[in-house]
Amino acid sequence: MAECGASGGGSSGDSLDKSITLPPDEIFRNLENAKRFAIDIGGSLTKLAYYSTVQHKVARVRSFDHSGKDAEHDHEPPYEISEQEEFTARLHFIKFENTYIEACLDFIKDHLVNTETKVIQATGGGAYKFKDLIEEKLRLKVDKQDVMTCLIKGCNFVLKNIPQEAFIYQKDSDPEFRFQTNHPNIFPYLLVNIGSGVSIVKVETEDRFEWVGGSSIGGGTFWGLGALLTGTKKFDELLHLASKGQHTNVDMLVQDVYGGAHQTLGLSGNLIASSFGKSATTDKEFSKEDMAKSLLHMISNDIGQLACLHAKLHGLGRVYFGGFFIRGHPVTMRTITYSINFFSKGEVQALFLRHEGYLGAIGAFLKGAEQDNPNQYSWGENYAGSSGLMSTAPELGPTQRARSGTFDLLEMDRLERPLVNLPLLLDPSSYVPDTVDLTDDALARKYWLTCFEEALDGVVKRAVASQPDAADAAERAEKFRQKYWNKLQTLRQQPFAYGTLTVRSLLDTREHCLNEFNFPDPYSKVKQQENGVALKCFPGVIRSLDALGWEERQLALVKGLLAGNVFDWGAKAVSDVLESDPQFGFEEAKQKLQDNSGVDIILGVFPFVRELLFRGTEVILACNSGPALNDVTHSEALIVAERIAAMDPVVQ
Ligand code: ADP
Repeated sequence: MAECGASGGGSSGDSLDKSITLPPDEIFRNLENAKRFAIDIGGSLTKLAYYSTVQHKVARVRSFDHSGKDAEHDHEPPYEISEQEEFTARLHFIKFENTYIEACLDFIKDHLVNTETKVIQATGGGAYKFKDLIEEKLRLKVDKQDVMTCLIKGCNFVLKNIPQEAFIYQKDSDPEFRFQTNHPNIFPYLLVNIGSGVSIVKVETEDRFEWVGGSSIGGGTFWGLGALLTGTKKFDELLHLASKGQHTNVDMLVQDVYGGAHQTLGLSGNLIASSFGKSATTDKEFSKEDMAKSLLHMISNDIGQLACLHAKLHGLGRVYFGGFFIRGHPVTMRTITYSINFFSKGEVQALFLRHEGYLGAIGAFLKGAEQDNPNQYSWGENYAGSSGLMSTAPELGPTQRARSGTFDLLEMDRLERPLVNLPLLLDPSSYVPDTVDLTDDALARKYWLTCFEEALDGVVKRAVASQPDAADAAERAEKFRQKYWNKLQTLRQQPFAYGTLTVRSLLDTREHCLNEFNFPDPYSKVKQQENGVALKCFPGVIRSLDALGWEERQLALVKGLLAGNVFDWGAKAVSDVLESDPQFGFEEAKQKLQDNSGVDIILGVFPFVRELLFRGTEVILACNSGPALNDVTHSEALIVAERIAAMDPVVQ
């Protein structure tokens, strides 16, 4: 922990919090390599974005060069592995309260080392208000960017680039969160940005949008009025109070006025007729919880109705909600959704965004990065570094709540190529690559989370073993354990924190955490060994398959395909069994249920592929671009395919 105090008076004239304890390793990560900055300063919160390069190890595989030498030796592995240092680009976003701005700027100034940049893109009202302070502290020139342009640019970016960014929320369904798959046609839509105040924007294309309305009753109102009513100035505490309150103690309902439902208007007795209506006539003290809940309802209902009216006025069926007010809070989302459904009779859909509060900062950043043509890349959310959607559910651990209240983080890694849908898919927008939705299936979720927890010891050991020459490997592996364990605990409580929870996302999270501590591919040596053994067995397996009649061969191929994918013997067992029994050892395989590189791809998939090729079928092999456990990666598969092609004329 580093104490970060600010000196000198801010030029804003407001009283700013000058001393805040920042955990720099966690909050302003990679700041020393930050290259380009953007900042969005609204009425309440500051959102800072910067781009940095992160140096980390990557595992590379390469065929041995045998030119000019004798043929390869029998005991030689099938390819070489090397760990190289590489730089990848990362985008960081951080949110904090405006009151900390001076302390944070000081902290940034003290930790900026390598920046070549001379300007900072700035948007939001604070781009004007804090201009002098930013220029003085950071010695960067403030380049002001239009608020609406940034907001829409950011919204389009997240909708197109971040998987499962948007979701609908339905309180009484299971699961409550339903994430949307990214769709290339996002227009037209209505964006309702609930920050301190509310802005409503109709968006028709990338560059055509119009501010159609707004309201002064927004997040600042909840925060401000809430502070007056309850005496707490902490936003998350207010939400926490609201989640425990009973608004019917404070609000006047239809039944309080009519004695029941209003039949002619078709209004149920439970509808709020007048927010805070009871407080005028009832002579008693109201609890902070009840008042906070009533206030949250009042503001969310109001915004929901406003959004619905504007959507109907402009013939728009989808409303996205941006701004940091919602924060994944169930009461807020439920009330907004209810209000929109109620007033539109189900014609307008309310959609929330996982990164609702960062739209302006993302847009400002993209404006500043236009010369690099950011659209030529894809960006992937880094689950190790991002806070995830934080709900302030009462059961949330105190450390999580304290963190989420002050700082919130989003990190995105740049992928060097744009990601595209597989062109052969019939309908890419409805294609779901996962077989189980763990947000949906509570039993499966419990099962898989426990599996990943129980496997953690093994992964830690493997990570340490994969770097025998690194003195700090054990220490890094322990940090990895802690980080991944914490992520798993968060996902137990909030399975929706990073979009739909799947086995794939659990694996991705683990790889991100491993990478964070410089373990690029702990299984690379195991895979190398197993691939070596399996390659040696390939000709024998093919010979025995070819000796079978048509029917038996089909069955053996399919069994091999399935068995290959479910067994993990370890290189020693693979070599023992396969070398003594080139008939494939399928029965043994079935007894051991796990995934495996060498046997799976070489002795399971390739014989099957070979059969298809033999019949004149074109085959596309798709592999993971990066490591996931002991699955074969794209670069390993290329080498394996070359080696098989060299042995087998059909594959060649
Ligand atoms: P602005 O750009 O106007 O600051 P934001 O989109 O950042 O707007 O949202 C600000 C609102 O978010 C606040 O008024 C408050 O309702 C809510 N909010 C969410 N988290 C916090 C927090 N930790 N501290 C203060 N307000 C928060």
